[in-house]
Amino acid sequence: MALVDELAALIGSGNVIAGDSSPARAYLGDETESRALSGSAAAIALPDDAEGVRQVTAWCYAHDVAIVPRGGGSGFSGGAVPSEGSVVIGVERLTQGLEFETGSWRVHVPAGTITAALREQARKRGFYYPPDPGSQAVSLIGGNIATNAGGPHTFKYGVTGSWVSGLEVVLAPGELVQIGGRVRKDVGGYDLRSLLIGSEGTLGIVTGAWMKLIPAPEAALPVVGFYPSTEAGQAAILNVLASGVAPAAVEFLDAETMEAALPTLGEAIPGLPPEVTGTATFVVIAEADGSSDQVARDREDLIAVMQAGAQAVHAPAKRAEVSALWLWRDVVSRAVTAREGGKVSEDIVVPVERIAETVRIVHELGARHRVPTCNWGHAGDGNIHANFMVNRNDEAGLARAAEAAHELFEFVTSIGGAVSGEHGIGIVKNHMLALQWPSRALDLHAQVKRVFDPKGLFNPGKKLAR
Ligand SMILES: Cc1cc2nc3c(=O)[nH]c(=O)nc-3n(C[C@H](O)[C@H](O)[C@H](O)COP(=O)(O)OP(=O)(O)OC[C@H]3O[C@@H](n4cnc5c(N)ncnc54)[C@H](O)[C@@H]3O)c2cc1C
Repeated sequence: MALVDELAALIGSGNVIAGDSSPARAYLGDETESRALSGSAAAIALPDDAEGVRQVTAWCYAHDVAIVPRGGGSGFSGGAVPSEGSVVIGVERLTQGLEFETGSWRVHVPAGTITAALREQARKRGFYYPPDPGSQAVSLIGGNIATNAGGPHTFKYGVTGSWVSGLEVVLAPGELVQIGGRVRKDVGGYDLRSLLIGSEGTLGIVTGAWMKLIPAPEAALPVVGFYPSTEAGQAAILNVLASGVAPAAVEFLDAETMEAALPTLGEAIPGLPPEVTGTATFVVIAEADGSSDQVARDREDLIAVMQAGAQAVHAPAKRAEVSALWLWRDVVSRAVTAREGGKVSEDIVVPVERIAETVRIVHELGARHRVPTCNWGHAGDGNIHANFMVNRNDEAGLARAAEAAHELFEFVTSIGGAVSGEHGIGIVKNHMLALQWPSRALDLHAQVKRVFDPKGLFNPGKKLAR
């Protein structure tokens, strides 16, 4: 029997797509299409439940067929881009079983739940699930766990992994295993949960999770500072961190980002005239959250601190203005892609006090390699989205952007930084870990992979250092 028919016999013909058919195209790439990456697959399997994921995995493992786990396809590292002859196992239909236990601050989440839907459902119950990647409207919880996704508000609250207490995962050669569960503390064994979180589909397939919640903060108010230089912006970031306020988010954008995003977004910052936004070199957004009284006090403190060295400070207070600001912030990435018709988007991490220096180096690299650049990111975490803007059809431009990015990784690792703070390694950076980790640590990576996946069939060619 042909592969597609065999899978259809396991999970139903409506849940399998032949890899060479036109509906398969939607599953052959991810956001790295913006740098012209795409793959091919023998079939796409979209099981309805965890048992279906287990059956397809067991079949692939028994037949030596590579498995490419897939969530919402919003990844920036090519992790979900399939290799020839592989079977893509998408978790998008695993949506049954979202169960809140708010009295105990927890929720059971099927892997196919859209991130924004989980946040919204929690909020309706008076609870908060903080991780808020800019892709939250399309990314799935399974994909967020597999990449250990962050976002603006993970500065105060921690990335996805901080919110996972238990995992349901299909491991080789096709076994559904529960690791952890409802309990919030568990130190008895090795921390397999953390090993699987961020493993980018190379160790197993997440089918569900127990996640923690907290009561939703009563209020959240951002303050936006506009600065005449990158150095003044850097000083504002450090002033915010030293202010005694514990902001939920500290973000930054440089002038090149504001300029690149403007044609698509129509305004630089919602509600503000170009006289304010158009002359700034660096923008810092800090948000206070908590009880209404606390937020009112913190907001005043942030305004005072952020005024030092600023051209202007904007502090929206109406709910609609605040939502418009964050909505605008979420769309910046796509707006920047629109400028040249593509981009090589990196997610490096540096010590927070070295953001200005790194931003300057990104622009210097761009100038030397003849690729326009822009930077924004999660300043509090020192996590910079360094973007090399290039048309996806311009092969020579893409090659120059890749060279510039490689030099950037060399710089970042030379100052104790990380090559990826959010997007993971995937295929686009799979040799770059060697810049960051000692060779003993790289050996341990390879050994861990062999223990979980002795045949090397889970997402081959992704994540590992060599
Ligand atoms: C506009 C935009 C903004 C973004 N902003 C952020 C941000 O603020 N923070 C951030 O961290 N990222 C961000 N990203 C990157 C991306 O959205 C995240 O990496 C996200 O977590 C990927 O989730 P996904 O469901 O789309 O996964 P996919 O892209 O489908 O897959 C990502 C990786 O996870 C693996 N995988 C997927 N599902 C599973 C599963 N169930 N089990 C095992 N492995 C699996 C895949 O094999 C792949 O290696 C952004 C992307 C875009 C397009």
